Amino acid sequence: MPSFAALLAERGVLLADGATGTNYQNMNMAPGVAPEQWVIDAPDRVSELHRRFLDAGSDLVLTCSFGATAPRLARGPLAGRAREVSRRAAEIAREAAGDEHLVGGSMGPTGQLVEPLGPLTREVCVDAYAEQAQALADGGVDLLVLETFFALDEALWAIEGVRGVSDLPLVASFSFDQGRRTMMGLTPTDVVAATRTLGLAALGANCGRSLQDTDALVTEFLADSQAPLWIKPNAGVPKVIGGSVVYEVTPAMLAEHVRDYVIQGARIVGGCCGSTPEHIAAISLALGR
Ligand SMILES: [Zn+2]
Repeated sequence: MPSFAALLAERGVLLADGATGTNYQNMNMAPGVAPEQWVIDAPDRVSELHRRFLDAGSDLVLTCSFGATAPRLARGPLAGRAREVSRRAAEIAREAAGDEHLVGGSMGPTGQLVEPLGPLTREVCVDAYAEQAQALADGGVDLLVLETFFALDEALWAIEGVRGVSDLPLVASFSFDQGRRTMMGLTPTDVVAATRTLGLAALGANCGRSLQDTDALVTEFLADSQAPLWIKPNAGVPKVIGGSVVYEVTPAMLAEHVRDYVIQGARIVGGCCGSTPEHIAAISLALGR
């Protein structure tokens, strides 16, 4: 099994996967159920989505553990089972990916605001990501991915927690869902400056808003960042049409933008909310694979 760095060096660009939650919804996940519930209740369907992305051309799939930190699970039916959920999510992805493909351990925000705006303290945050990183590592991931972060304190504490327990390559990705800024007002330049000395394996953006906004984010990251650029945009802004949530960016449209990001220098690409295996297949084709 090549390492993340070795495979990135060998291939130049790595194709990651697309969305988890919105594809589970397409697979009839009941409304209000957290994706992590399927790790316990429907591991066959978690595995099926991994395999569909791998068949579409993904070099790298992310575990179904985005919301599996202890503080985030504490509010729902998986309270107290954080370690078990992340370890099992990693094992499911590892089994689907085999030895030829990479598995990234997904770690999303806690869902709490940092004090004094909310209850999240450094101690709780560091402990939560240490626990999740250890569980994902125990389950066999190749790298760890902090994704969709929006607050600098929470991201830096998460990095501190991960680094306390694991030497695996670590990626940090932020959601600029205000367009060119995160919910807490961070720009790409801000996150580059704050993480420059931390030795991240990649840095970038996922989720966010429109592809036009992502175009601008890519330019800003590439002007400044030394770390390989990680970009997984949404398939556009979701709209409610006839009672269902629709993402209007087609596979061809997403592929066109992502190919441009690669031409400009992005190194790890894929999709976020609304992006299906068909979107990943279109990106793979656009990259000439
Ligand atoms: Zn997303």
